[in-house]
Amino acid sequence: MRTLIVGSGPTGLLLGAALARRGQRVVSVDRDPGPVGDAWNRRGVMQFEHAHGFRPQVPMALQAEWPEAHGSWTNLGAQPVEAPSSAGSRQVVGMLSRRSTFERALRHAAAKAPGLTLRRGHVEGLAIDGGRVVGARVDGSLVEADLVVDASGRAGRLGRSGTQSGEAALEGDCGLAYIDRTYRLRPGARPGPMVSPLAYMGDFDGYQCLVFLHEAGHFSVVIVRPTADAALKALRFEEAFEAACRAIPALAEWTHPARALPTSAVLVGGALRNVYRRQAGTPGLVAVGDSVATTTPTRGRGIAMACMQVTALLALLDEGADPVTVAEPFGTWCDHAIEPWVADHIAIDGGMVRRWQGEDLDLSIPLTTDLIADAVEADPRIGQHAGGYFAMTALPETLRPAEPLARTAYQDGWRPEYAPGPTRDELVGVILAAVLASGRRARDLTSTAPRQAAELGAR
Ligand SMILES: Cc1cc2nc3c(=O)[nH]c(=O)nc-3n(C[C@H](O)[C@H](O)[C@H](O)COP(=O)(O)OP(=O)(O)OC[C@H]3O[C@@H](n4cnc5c(N)ncnc54)[C@H](O)[C@@H]3O)c2cc1C
Repeated sequence: MRTLIVGSGPTGLLLGAALARRGQRVVSVDRDPGPVGDAWNRRGVMQFEHAHGFRPQVPMALQAEWPEAHGSWTNLGAQPVEAPSSAGSRQVVGMLSRRSTFERALRHAAAKAPGLTLRRGHVEGLAIDGGRVVGARVDGSLVEADLVVDASGRAGRLGRSGTQSGEAALEGDCGLAYIDRTYRLRPGARPGPMVSPLAYMGDFDGYQCLVFLHEAGHFSVVIVRPTADAALKALRFEEAFEAACRAIPALAEWTHPARALPTSAVLVGGALRNVYRRQAGTPGLVAVGDSVATTTPTRGRGIAMACMQVTALLALLDEGADPVTVAEPFGTWCDHAIEPWVADHIAIDGGMVRRWQGEDLDLSIPLTTDLIADAVEADPRIGQHAGGYFAMTALPETLRPAEPLARTAYQDGWRPEYAPGPTRDELVGVILAAVLASGRRARDLTSTAPRQAAELGAR
């Protein structure tokens, strides 16, 4: 078997290494040259510098399929996080790591993986002969293969041009945008407030804050704003972001200069979409990872879903599926195990954005899973249905039986409490005051928040 993988991101490398361990000759092509010493200007993968949390599916897949990469990751400092399981033993619930550290570890291990060749190049399109994919055009030349894997990520276009319709089966704007910055704890400083062993997450009136702890004291602070909220766009200015951090109590603790120092500029994320794409149905081609599904990043599901896909695809091949047509049973598995997460995110995000805009819950329609799960605070019986959903070991629909309990709580007037901190309007005041005090000119602001800028006296 000659396998050509388009994309040497997390999905392409994990699958490539696992296939090479099974004796296949694998070439993984990526236009990105990889790290050069400490520098890695990862163009085309905007999330490379953004905050990432790693669910347990990621270290589990590496340990099972590519232990050298797991070793390389921990050698670079990634820290497993353990918590007691219901059986009383301890289990890994995630890994503390920056995304860049994770990808470096994979690239490092891939360079030494027997049977896996990394090639730099731009894949321009698929080569199709007699109705099946027989390779791809890489920098003007044909590279023949028995199986082409589209692991080209959310921005890749390759397999999509080979699809019958080219359309996504499910698609929706997440309705939110990321602004984040990385920091590092000073030597000996303790992390700030957390709501889980991996992260802090706070819902505020009109926005959301996250802190992901990474390895060796590195951490990322994320402020999530509705895309439609133009005034909060000003968070992209460093003085605004820092003023917001000072005004939001949990972030103030994390980012206090006595505790931590920034290690990056303020990073602005690109457009975020929930997307599910079916397999193209062309023999010789299979799509995996973000090229199949992307979801709102706030719940840190992307790489876990990619690992779940790789594991399922390998299981099909191990059971004897023909690699040339494996996309068919794999697509059926994705429709069952991946698509529901995308549908779930589309429903959750729509509701969250409406609530951020001041709407109350609409109790005349089915409650979204986030609302059902949130109501565990009001009715602890919901917890017995929620464990698999939170861990992604059970599909979102497994929360549905708890809906009547949650509905009763909401009908009785219960609502999740906001985390302590400024409302959205107060936050706009804080950040615009900081921007104007910095001497930035009004025209920098007026495109984002003309009314507020005028109220604050921008000239
Ligand atoms: C802002 C943000 C935050 C996120 N946070 C989390 C998180 O906390 N936890 C989590 O699990 N997931 C998170 N995700 C999702 C996660 O980053 C993705 O699921 C992950 O990158 C998917 O890996 P991939 O290998 O499928 O795709 P990618 O990482 O996009 O890799 C695709 C590769 O293909 C290459 N490529 C594309 N087209 C071509 C071509 N034509 N020729 C050659 N090479 C090509 C690209 O250069 C790239 O290297 C986040 C995503 C975003 C956007």
